[in-house]
Amino acid sequence: MKPLPLGATIGIVGGGQLGRMLAMAAARLGYRTIVLEPQADCPAAQAANGQIVAAYDSPDALAELARRSAVVTYEFENVPVEAAATLAASVPVFPPPRALEAAQDRLVEKTFLNGIGIATAGFRPVDDDAQLVEALAVFDGAGILKTRRLGYDGKGQRLFLAGDGQVLSGAVAAMGGVPLILESLVTFTREISIIAARGFDGALAAYDPAENVHRDGILHRSTVPAGISPDTADAAREAAFAILTALDYVGVIGVEFFVLADGSLLANEIAPRVHNSGHWTEAACAISQFEQHIRAVAGLPLGDARRHSDCEMENLIGDEVLRTPELLAEPGLVLHLYGKAEARPGRKMGHFTRLTGCV
Ligand code: AMP
Repeated sequence: MKPLPLGATIGIVGGGQLGRMLAMAAARLGYRTIVLEPQADCPAAQAANGQIVAAYDSPDALAELARRSAVVTYEFENVPVEAAATLAASVPVFPPPRALEAAQDRLVEKTFLNGIGIATAGFRPVDDDAQLVEALAVFDGAGILKTRRLGYDGKGQRLFLAGDGQVLSGAVAAMGGVPLILESLVTFTREISIIAARGFDGALAAYDPAENVHRDGILHRSTVPAGISPDTADAAREAAFAILTALDYVGVIGVEFFVLADGSLLANEIAPRVHNSGHWTEAACAISQFEQHIRAVAGLPLGDARRHSDCEMENLIGDEVLRTPELLAEPGLVLHLYGKAEARPGRKMGHFTRLTGCV
């Protein structure tokens, strides 16, 4: 693919804050953007050149998006695979729809990761209570039961601890009767993630891993550098590169890992998109994850992923957005708000990155 000409339009499926920041990065590189999102005046559309207000799987809307875009990308991993395939029949779609398939179902995801030599927690598919009993027995009575699809930020999960005498009958129905997966319970020392990218020419780049702390199942803080050894950082980078190469990927990916006491890694999740734990790159790197993604999908050379500063990024959830005046008074702090009118509990309203020292 030749680089997209200046002024070309990039279609973005999904209208949240990630789409907003992609639209802003695209504008900086001289591109236009159009967002497909059912909610009018969504965060992404506020920063884009246009919005198609329609469901992600509306055939008319997909046809219009394909017609008006030179390339299409997406900002969330639950884009219907059929919609991505429909688009891909008439316009380049990056990352490839195959990456969506790998990321949407935890069973497919872990099987894929293990298949390319990347270790994960142990796992067993669970479709009924009998399978749950069997699977728990394999993991010595402890595990996390998760929905295979559509779970995020810790939603759709139930913890089982060895010897806690939980009643298992009805457990599968209580999770909504949907296909489930039981994962072995990992004893980790920290959680990290890495943001990496693959260009159209196959070039690879990775940011430094971030160490992540969650609150109520939502990312609270990402700190860079992570408290890990160079060997562990190398292992995270190599795993991300293996995933990108195996998927013939174009764009930015986020990969989350558990770090074990001996420094080894278990991959937890892949996100075929820009990622919350990479927001720090807009403040601590010359080229943010958002620009990196736009460069990749536009067929431009990838940018330098080195960081110039140490930093910590924190999400502003719900009313925390009211801290804005106090945060803006702090030197070395970069604030980013998402243009959401209503600060509901648990809603990501913005984030800030505090630069903590030069590299
Ligand atoms: P997830 O939705 O898979 O990202 O899980 C949300 C959080 O639950 C993770 O960030 C971990 O803190 C925790 N968690 C998920 N899976 C496991 C596991 N197999 N063992 C231990 N903790 C886990």
